[in-house]
Amino acid sequence: MTSKGVSRVRAAVINAIGSAFEIEEVEIAEPQGSEVLVDVRAVGLCHSDLHFAQADVGMPLPLVLGHEVAGVVVAVGEDVTGLVPGDHVVGSLIQSCGTCPRCTAGAPFQCLNPFATLRGPDEPSRLTRDGQPVFGAFGLGGFAERALVHENQLAKVDTAVPFAEASILGCGVLTGVGAVLNGAGVKEGDTVAVIGLGGVGLNVLSGARLAGASRIIGVDVNDEKLALAASFGATDTVNGADSDAVAAVLELTGGVDHAFEVIGMKQTSEQAIAMLGVGGTAHLIGIHKPDRPIEIDVNTLLAPQRGIRGVYMGSSDLHRDVPRYAKLFLDGELNLSDLISREINIDQINDAYEELKNGAIARSVITSF
Ligand code: NAD
Ligand code: ZN
Ligand code: ZN
Repeated sequence: MTSKGVSRVRAAVINAIGSAFEIEEVEIAEPQGSEVLVDVRAVGLCHSDLHFAQADVGMPLPLVLGHEVAGVVVAVGEDVTGLVPGDHVVGSLIQSCGTCPRCTAGAPFQCLNPFATLRGPDEPSRLTRDGQPVFGAFGLGGFAERALVHENQLAKVDTAVPFAEASILGCGVLTGVGAVLNGAGVKEGDTVAVIGLGGVGLNVLSGARLAGASRIIGVDVNDEKLALAASFGATDTVNGADSDAVAAVLELTGGVDHAFEVIGMKQTSEQAIAMLGVGGTAHLIGIHKPDRPIEIDVNTLLAPQRGIRGVYMGSSDLHRDVPRYAKLFLDGELNLSDLISREINIDQINDAYEELKNGAIARSVITSF
């Protein structure tokens, strides 16, 4: 690996949808224009990457996933204005052009021209293998020693935040805390239920605590996750495998103001709606397998005035929210360290995803290649 010119880096490559990650060498180009070359020091194993590795959502192959990235800037393109070599950065899959009406109105998560952060179809690929294009998912391609990323997808982060904790800021924290503080508008005293306490759901608990929710109920089927919940702000826990989660939440609260589904299952999405009180809203975060619609009896929404909304990346503005959450962490107000179940080498990625599927761990983070 060299720091100038094309580098060869180790990466976890998906060669066929449904197959395992294969650790291979790929070539990564030099930064041009608004691109930044990042030395990846930590990359988290978010469940979304497993969805995209297993379900065909139209991403070109071969594919390098990985979108929870923290690292150090090694080189910048000639148009980069906000970052210099040596800066510590957090990457995000929120692709924003910076100039469309949504971006200029402060909603980069609704950018109308997200592909502006990628190279055009006629330009050489950022990643190649034996000269053939390799697709870096969402403009990040973080499961690699280095990543070439548009500066709009990177936020500078305080060097006091360790890389593993910083990586989780890029998706788990932006999505989970942001869903509560930006998206849902949870008010002081509101009641909240969170179904699914993985790397994202635990951050929804943190967001509810920061918002001043009066009752925060964590629901999971894994006792290890339920044991973690209190350190993220849960006031109550429910094991959905042992009991009827809806009945338990209704008994505790009479129906919650906000229910967050953070798994991506039909059954739990329907539970989120069924556990709402009058005027409550279900916030659906989990990504569902394709073609698995949920069923709603609309009449159950009308008189109780219940709402349902989809949540994307916590309605986040990366450049506002990453420094804000980093400061909360450094001030001891946001628990990031307990999210990191273990630090692994990239060679362990398949085993670590197997463990994530079993629900036993919050986050594995790759910190060596
Ligand atoms: P994860 O695998 O770490 O967590 C899932 C949790 O759900 C585990 O703790 C598991 O024990 C629990 N669970 C499984 N079945 C359950 C059931 N029947 N009842 C209660 N709990 C159950 O996943 P994650 O990385 O936290 O991601 C969660 C979901 O959010 C995924 O679908 C991911 O793709 C999605 N996601 C969405 C966005 C977005 O912007 N909408 C962003 C990031 C992640
Ligand atoms: Zn993610
Ligand atoms: Zn835009």
